[in-house]
Amino acid sequence: MEILPPLRGNNIQSIFDTIDPLMEFKPPFIDVTYHREEYVYKKTPEGFLEKKSIKKRPGTVGICAAIMNHYNVDAVPHIICGGFTKEETETALIDLQFLGIDNVLALRGDAIKNESHFAPEAGGNNYAIDLVHQVVRMNQGQYLDTEVQNATPTNFCIGVAGYPEKHFEAPNMQSDMRHLKAKIDAGGGYIVTQMFFDNKKYFAFVEACRKEGITVPIIPGLKPITTRRQLAILPKTFSVEIPQDLVDAIEKCKDDKAVREAGIEWCIAQSKELVKQGAPVLHYYTMGSSDATKRVASQIF
Ligand code: FAD
Repeated sequence: MEILPPLRGNNIQSIFDTIDPLMEFKPPFIDVTYHREEYVYKKTPEGFLEKKSIKKRPGTVGICAAIMNHYNVDAVPHIICGGFTKEETETALIDLQFLGIDNVLALRGDAIKNESHFAPEAGGNNYAIDLVHQVVRMNQGQYLDTEVQNATPTNFCIGVAGYPEKHFEAPNMQSDMRHLKAKIDAGGGYIVTQMFFDNKKYFAFVEACRKEGITVPIIPGLKPITTRRQLAILPKTFSVEIPQDLVDAIEKCKDDKAVREAGIEWCIAQSKELVKQGAPVLHYYTMGSSDATKRVASQIF
């Protein structure tokens, strides 16, 4: 399962409240997303607008440590290129190592909200593959400061992201697949996919990966639809399609409760088929609420 750090001002209990109901399913690991800074404009007393950089959901590393301590289960922090210099990334990885967190999901991250395209930090990593290279170098005992001698190698297991329906910036699937293969060749040990609602897309993606020579586990990402609004929001936010049968099932619902049931039923059917077809593990995007995931998991595990 993947959880989000709570909004600034909330405490760790909200995280435990999300995870507690799901622990009976014995998740082998719990992912914690990373949220980069956003720019907001605040009015000054003089009436001017002041641009401020804020992180609304800080705490990924602390939450991972708390999860491992509280539940004795592996926590996987998401680490991103955006907003970090390589030095800052190295420092963050050192913190993780000291905390005994030796799994990471290495991602590029998206553009800052209201910016048209992703721009790396000066002296930062540009693509996820660059981040993978940096972690691999630390696993070989090489730090950025070449004067650091005889360093203890870190032991990170590195996951990367994959997109059954293509990453929205990639010119085509073949190009995206080549970049994915390069991330694996660089040291990615497994792939977690973007959410999808049509299993055929996942199966086709796995087949294409295998043809490309990618042999690592490919973990399907799933999310139960719980509101009618998500029919518009999810395709826009994640560049994914929602199959017409699911759209029909949701549109004919009479109220919010029925929509939720239809979304959960769909996700249960997806999960059952994926397990039957041998998916290595299922990854649920909880998006901060465990109820729907619990309903699905109780039918599968
Ligand atoms: P990359 O692998 O770097 O790919 C980005 C784009 O560049 C692709 O189109 C790719 O084809 C292309 N590309 C790659 N390498 C090259 C190259 N060398 N030259 C030219 N083009 C290249 N975002 C967050 O901010 N925080 C999170 O916690 C988070 N968690 C996620 C978890 C999962 C499972 C997934 C699937 C996504 C997650 N994201 C998260 C979103 C992710 O950061 C965005 O989708 C981002 O736009 C791409 O990240 P990436 O790691 O796939 O990038």
